[in-house]
Amino acid sequence: AVYADYAATTPVDKEILRKVIEGADEFGNPSSIHKAGKRAKANLEKSRREVASLLNASPAEIIFTSGATEANNMAIRGIVARHHRPHIITTEIEHASVLNTFKALSADVDVTCLPARENGTIDTEALKSALREDTALVSIMLVNNETGVMQPIYEVREILAGHDALLHIDAVQAFGHMAVNVKDLGADLLSLSGHKIYGPKGIGLLYKSKDVRLDPMITGGSQERDARGGTENGLWIEAMAEAMKRAKDTSNVRSLKEMQLKERFLNGLISAEVPFEVNGDVNQSVSHIINIHFPWSQAEFLLTALDMADIYLSAGSACHAGTLEPSHVLESMYGKTERSTKSIRFSFSYLMEDEDIEHIVEALKDIYERLMK
Ligand code: PLP
Repeated sequence: AVYADYAATTPVDKEILRKVIEGADEFGNPSSIHKAGKRAKANLEKSRREVASLLNASPAEIIFTSGATEANNMAIRGIVARHHRPHIITTEIEHASVLNTFKALSADVDVTCLPARENGTIDTEALKSALREDTALVSIMLVNNETGVMQPIYEVREILAGHDALLHIDAVQAFGHMAVNVKDLGADLLSLSGHKIYGPKGIGLLYKSKDVRLDPMITGGSQERDARGGTENGLWIEAMAEAMKRAKDTSNVRSLKEMQLKERFLNGLISAEVPFEVNGDVNQSVSHIINIHFPWSQAEFLLTALDMADIYLSAGSACHAGTLEPSHVLESMYGKTERSTKSIRFSFSYLMEDEDIEHIVEALKDIYERLMK
């Protein structure tokens, strides 16, 4: 089988698991005042320091969460709770964990959603016109999970210069593929997830600048400096720190391999004479994701046919009861056209081999030729 859905999730690095299992004997509760608790607390704070240094943040600015969905909720709900019906700017191409949070809060916020351009980047001119004196928050992703297109965050930061609006960045698909330095990005809040970078599922974090106040979403004990009640998930936090360290240390090697795979794939499609168009600007996308429009087939049909050939891919869009919704990202870029139901996301990994790519190309060629008969 060929798995090419690494933007959906990655396998856990076994080395990380091994390291975590070794540390599992230290099982104390970091809130306990005895020595076992103190040792657990020391381990927890060590992971926090490591993570903070990888992001150029300080340890007090890291809140561990159950994943990026929670981190996004924490950032958005935490800000909304501190204002009376604030004006917030986000984009049409955000992940569901951002868009549906705003939808759920629609009675309490005034949201402006920026569209994307055909190249897959958000329209920064629209940001300029949308920005108001009372805008409390701007929430923009660093890399889009469907197209892989990097967003013009430095331009966004420039537009926000001198403005009080806070900047929240969903950096889930960016970490390990481009520099994620909270100071350089000018982030006030930033979300990350473990399972997109070969760490476990169910762990993530929110970076929160020390200057930002958030109302806690989960009330309980005073864990995470009162930001999130509940006994800390020490083992997975250690795994997250280790996954981030490895992703950053090997980023160049991983990205180079992924870029070669992507190039091989595109050249393969051309040689196989399978008609296709790349969605968004491939030159502005991260190494591991590419989204492709196949005008000759519905995505749902292609995904099923590929699954039968043991090739695992996604359309990138939400799947409800087995039927694919048109991609909201592609609709934002190209309007409501067939493109948003006839496109597939390929997401590669440094773990893949050239033969895997050839296998995908051959399967696509085969399906195309059968359809055209
Ligand atoms: N944000 C983006 C851009 C994502 O791709 C994902 C993953 O699906 C998430 C947030 C949610 O992350 P998690 O699965 O850790 O909740």
